[in-house]
Amino acid sequence: MMGPRQEAQASLFYEFSLEDHVPQSHLLRSIDQFVDLAGIRAHLTDFYSHTGRPSIDPELLIRMLLVGYCFGIRSERRLCEEVYLNLAYRWFCRLDLTDRVPDHSTFSKNRHGRFRESELLRHLFETTVARCIAEGLVSGQRMAIDASLIEADANKQNSTPKEEWDASDIDPADAPRAVREYLDTLDEAAFGAASKVQPKFTSHSDPASQWTAARKGPAFFSYSDNYLIDTDHGVIVDVEATRSIRQAEVGSTKTMLKRVKAKFDLHPERLIADTAYGTGPMLGWLVDRKIAPHIPVFDKSGRNDGTWTRADFEWDAENDQYICPEGHALKQFRRNYSDPNRGPTGKGTARYRALKLTCQACPSKPKCCPNADARKITREEHEDARQVARDIAKTRQYEISMKLRKKVEMLFAHLKRILGLRRLRLRGPCGANDEFLLAATAQNLRKLAKIFPAPQKPRTA
Ligand code: SF4
Repeated sequence: MMGPRQEAQASLFYEFSLEDHVPQSHLLRSIDQFVDLAGIRAHLTDFYSHTGRPSIDPELLIRMLLVGYCFGIRSERRLCEEVYLNLAYRWFCRLDLTDRVPDHSTFSKNRHGRFRESELLRHLFETTVARCIAEGLVSGQRMAIDASLIEADANKQNSTPKEEWDASDIDPADAPRAVREYLDTLDEAAFGAASKVQPKFTSHSDPASQWTAARKGPAFFSYSDNYLIDTDHGVIVDVEATRSIRQAEVGSTKTMLKRVKAKFDLHPERLIADTAYGTGPMLGWLVDRKIAPHIPVFDKSGRNDGTWTRADFEWDAENDQYICPEGHALKQFRRNYSDPNRGPTGKGTARYRALKLTCQACPSKPKCCPNADARKITREEHEDARQVARDIAKTRQYEISMKLRKKVEMLFAHLKRILGLRRLRLRGPCGANDEFLLAATAQNLRKLAKIFPAPQKPRTA
């Protein structure tokens, strides 16, 4: 039998409890267990005036931002509409049915003002990491690092080719916020100072973003989101926004490793990364700090004409020489020079040479140095550290590390597909940093919620 037509009936009084209407299995219930914002009021005390109209509770704004980043709602205007309508979001934000939802403009005012001045979003992220450590999800033994390109809010139509771009033409007093941030970061290693090479195009609206074709497709403006993760459970222990070039991404490794050591006393036994991080100076820095580099060596000494490469020669550290496949020595010095400046080049590269007479009589010369009188091999300053990485690459542990490295790639896939962070909404280095911090916080909270779901209480009748 067909039931009666459903008619909207306006009741005068309702007995309604938000607590009862949010399902026990809702993701926000599990996340709520780990959101501890007790400290943020104390953190912000010095940034609020003691007089004037009371402001909107910063805890409410943070809870709303967490809802937005956990569920891929990054437009603040839409976030306000969603929180207004969604009972679970209201419950998480501690808003009752009749409580007013803040206006979307409140977010930008706070973000550009006291949130940035107080580094509140970093404080929030680090609070979440501390909770992950407290819950036993982070051992700090094995860490992995990687970077992912996130498209900036900038278009080529609004850009200038490098021949016509001159930062000294910009008047900071008359420039938008993102342009002022670009000027402020020109000397920072993660941005302007990362490379002297000018990008092909510079955006007018967000000049700190990098014009890049690194994805082998059409070029676009982007920032790099750098993650340092603990591989036990894939918890993000640090995050950093940089320009999308290798030097800046690799440089952020040092920044993040130093920061997790200072903040959480985490010092990994190994660092796992891809070839981009396998440069001599980076490997040397890691080996000096007793961090095993589980990283493929970035080596350009390979040859493509089929002749023997440097890897075919054996290094004899004790006698400071290479031994060629025919068993002859390649030496740096064959006699004592009175001039101490002779020898290694100014760039820290040493040259090792075989004897001309030996090579001329050698049956393997066509495979070794067909176009030279004698074979020469160069050895860079950090070759010892490279050798440490090469030796690690032969171990079973390295194979395991290469599988663990996928965890950081999966986090980036999750960031883009589930949290929807494919294109930034905010401009400038600070905007990128804010978005990356909030997204990493949301990912860690979702991880905690997945591993420790909220206890299921029976519903009250
Ligand atoms: S050519 Fe010279 S360096 Fe090369 S294998 Fe022969 S002796 Fe050794």
